[in-house]
Amino acid sequence: MQRKLIFSIAILFALLPAGCATNPITGRQELMFFPEQHDVEIGRTYAPEIEKQMGGRIDDPALQNYIDSVGQRIARLSHRPDLPYHFIAVDHNSVNAFALPGGYVYITKGMLAKLNTEAQLAGILAHEITHIVARDSSAAMSRQIGINLVLSTITSEKTPQNARMVADITKQIMSLQYSRKDERQADLTGLSYMTEAGFNPYGMVQTMQILQAQQQIRPIEFFSTHPAPQSRIAYLTEEIHSKYYATVKLKVGTEQYRRNVLDHLSN
Ligand SMILES: [Zn+2]
Repeated sequence: MQRKLIFSIAILFALLPAGCATNPITGRQELMFFPEQHDVEIGRTYAPEIEKQMGGRIDDPALQNYIDSVGQRIARLSHRPDLPYHFIAVDHNSVNAFALPGGYVYITKGMLAKLNTEAQLAGILAHEITHIVARDSSAAMSRQIGINLVLSTITSEKTPQNARMVADITKQIMSLQYSRKDERQADLTGLSYMTEAGFNPYGMVQTMQILQAQQQIRPIEFFSTHPAPQSRIAYLTEEIHSKYYATVKLKVGTEQYRRNVLDHLSN
């Protein structure tokens, strides 16, 4: 038992070439348990299992291209524009969106059906992009799952045992919790990204309002891991009034969203 423990500690230290990393958004040094280049490998390892557990991709290339084009437009203006971003709509009726390290963003059919405009979609994607840029999902994995466990699955061969581990860890990834500070940063930095990309920032506020109204009928997964929507609506509105008052003419995209998403979902 003790030998096993010493062995695990030895592995942990072997995997610790960088103890700190600079958060590209705040410029501050933050404790990080694995180097940035592992983010993409982690994303690539877990993406197929996430898709499987979320009902697979929605089988509609035109819809996928549209979601991806909105996401790419924002991601290219983020603090980490060079990651290989993927924006994927999954065939699941829950109302949810989440991010994997290395550039993978998922949004469910249930969430897409609740939105009405391109700016609202941009708000959700910009929030998730910020989690990736700030490495919130990487840090949450380090803290809540154990990074040696996560990394062991990307380095070992594709055995049935490894596949089982990936499936088990995926369940934990889907319920990762971010801190309130991380969520606030994802909202506010996401707001600046979407505005810079040309989307009306009120889209993000409306998203909160739509989901808040829905939440009163049935609990929403997206909110179980996020701060109360009332406080998010308050600080987002304040931020728009103080920084983005000249952006009211930016793109809302009601017609584009109906044609590219809602019409497709009703078919
Ligand atoms: Zn979040």
